[in-house]
Amino acid sequence: MKYQCAHRWAFKSWGGELELSEDALPSVIGHEVTLRVTHCGMCHSDLHIQAGGFDMGGGRLSSLERAGSKLPVTLGHEIVGEVVEIGPEVTSVRLGETVIVYPWIGCGECPTCLRGDEHLCVRAARNMGLQVPGGYADVVRVAHARYLVPVGTLEPARAATFACAGITALSAIRKLPAVTADDWVAVIGCGGVGMTAVALLSTTAPAKIVAIDPDPTKREAALRHGACAAYDPNQPDAFKVIGKACSGNIAGAIDFVGAESSSSLAVSLVRRAGQVIIVGLFGGEFRMALPMFALKSLSISGSYVGSLPDLRELVALAQRVTLPEIPLDRRPLNSVNQALDDLSHGRVVGRVILQP
Ligand SMILES: [Zn+2]
Ligand SMILES: [Zn+2]
Repeated sequence: MKYQCAHRWAFKSWGGELELSEDALPSVIGHEVTLRVTHCGMCHSDLHIQAGGFDMGGGRLSSLERAGSKLPVTLGHEIVGEVVEIGPEVTSVRLGETVIVYPWIGCGECPTCLRGDEHLCVRAARNMGLQVPGGYADVVRVAHARYLVPVGTLEPARAATFACAGITALSAIRKLPAVTADDWVAVIGCGGVGMTAVALLSTTAPAKIVAIDPDPTKREAALRHGACAAYDPNQPDAFKVIGKACSGNIAGAIDFVGAESSSSLAVSLVRRAGQVIIVGLFGGEFRMALPMFALKSLSISGSYVGSLPDLRELVALAQRVTLPEIPLDRRPLNSVNQALDDLSHGRVVGRVILQP
């Protein structure tokens, strides 16, 4: 069936509400594919994108507009849909198939893209849900069939969250140093992404995991998903207590919060020659005494979403091992503004999945 237009929920000014618009959809050409969106996850990044930037600390905000993003923006980068139209050169997906979209699309031509890291493209990103219309719509157009991964036996609503939350967890744990069964890894922030990291680590790495989160229910869940210990970062002398419990042998710490307090805790916790990986985008700034880099032989890196091969690997892995079932909060697409408001006020448990 040919779709001649897309009904998209887009904001037309930074910080503005999403409004429904009807946009003409040109015919598919080449390797393009049209999907009927069945599920689209809502991510915290959507709030930052809608606001127009990130908190860079000291009252400064980054600007997506200055970085070249144009209005209007149709949000939504955790998309699952049914293939309804394929270009003449498409051979890898069939009509009627349910697929996950890899949304972090680069220029496809720069050395970074050619290396397979399109999410880190240095030239002209075409991320769906920011530069290119995303999944808060009835249909989406995908530039090339190679960005589509069949859901297989996975539940589609859950599979949608793999496109951002899932690969973010996988890509972050890949940046850890080689660990043994005597080593510890700290996971700071056990929301959806952090909890997925705990589960992936427990099935793929020999190290012991210490989960760190102020919420006791999240700490309990982390213990069920393979953490050996769990602590509240706000307890008195948290870093001493946690350090002692882990015999001072924390080889790596992944900060899924990305706040000033969580990143400094991560740096204090790791042993000499340890690795800190900052993933969360809560915001603020990071200060550290410069001699500590040398004295501790410390490595600090960031990690941003993941690659297309990461998504393919995660989808395969999830069909072999049991990953944590992050609670899903299913809502109709036309309540998107309410859902964004609820997310920004902490009134969402788990992941919102919008369904057109
Ligand atoms: Zn996201
Ligand atoms: Zn590129």
